[in-house]
Amino acid sequence: MSYNFKDYIRVIPDFPQPGIRFKDITTLLKDGPAYKAAIEALKESVADLKIDVVAGPEARGFVIGAPLALALGVGFVPIRKSGKLPGETIEASYDLEYGKDKLALHKDSIQPGQRVLIADDLLATGGTIATTTQLIRQLGGEIVGAAFLIELGYLDGRQKLQGMNIRSLVTY
Ligand code: 5GP
Repeated sequence: MSYNFKDYIRVIPDFPQPGIRFKDITTLLKDGPAYKAAIEALKESVADLKIDVVAGPEARGFVIGAPLALALGVGFVPIRKSGKLPGETIEASYDLEYGKDKLALHKDSIQPGQRVLIADDLLATGGTIATTTQLIRQLGGEIVGAAFLIELGYLDGRQKLQGMNIRSLVTY
């Protein structure tokens, strides 16, 4: 069966702030075959990239990144909000489409030279991924690309991530 994944994504107006049209992926996640098909499609979209490990930012980056890592047969590295990881971390702050955030990564989570695929549910302004990229590179990781369920083309996150291999299943 071929999926139009947009049919499984719910758009909620004015969440979490007036004017934002939030793309709700929980409607896709709760449908087993659609969720599986999305992970399979993402796996195919990165088949040309040599990947040692997948890294995904909290929290929706986990629900995409971890199953994608399993499907690819590689490990998963969680990137978390500041203060959540128990070991020694490096951290970086950044602006979101709405608000501010700080992300952290365990210092020993990525070895120098490892080829890292970043995964998240959605690419908006690119701020989250730019910061994730900065943290991974600080540890010596090589970013081979970034995979998303959704890309908000009108926010032009690609421009911020110039030169990166970006793969997404649906664009708004
Ligand atoms: P960016 O940093 O690219 O501006 O924003 C992307 C991050 O914000 C992602 O981690 C994503 O989970 C979250 N995000 C922003 N807008 C939306 C949205 O409309 N739907 C979902 N599911 N996540 C969003």
